[in-house]
Amino acid sequence: MPWTNEQIAENASRFLEEQNAVRFPVDTYSLARGQGFKLEWRDFRQIDSDIIGMILVNDSEKIIEGVNMSANRIIAMSDALSEAEERYILAHELGHFRLHRQPLFAFSDRESQDNLNDPKEREAERFARELMMPERAMRTATTLYEGDAQYKSMFTSLVEYISAMFFVPLEKAGFRLNELGLTA
Ligand SMILES: [Zn+2]
Repeated sequence: MPWTNEQIAENASRFLEEQNAVRFPVDTYSLARGQGFKLEWRDFRQIDSDIIGMILVNDSEKIIEGVNMSANRIIAMSDALSEAEERYILAHELGHFRLHRQPLFAFSDRESQDNLNDPKEREAERFARELMMPERAMRTATTLYEGDAQYKSMFTSLVEYISAMFFVPLEKAGFRLNELGLTA
């Protein structure tokens, strides 16, 4: 069942409220750990140079052969990412967790955009943007930037300011500004 953009925005905002994550930039490391995820950094280049992140969830508590296969939640990231990229891929994986959750599931994410043909990947991307750059906060930040010469002297462009304020990759900040019609 596909999610509408409104539902995704609502889901992300409810998540922020539930977790009392009221400050920006949103701390996606804490959000992920708060959901019981173990965070791992891996050198994916040895397997497949294109992989940047992965989520693995096993919520089925089972005793197999007398061994308790207890619940396991892992988000693995490439160890070659910048902090902004890490924060963002965590938000993306949390999107899969919030939108596509099953007792047992896994997604792997690639740097190349070709998996955006997959509706679930587009939904996780949308969730990541809604989580890290909610519309209201984006509008407030943009108004602040536009009206304050000091901000303008500190940052060469609105995109750069948004990227710094919300601690997201420049490209994602630019995409979000466009999406909300906030570009000058
Ligand atoms: Zn994904």
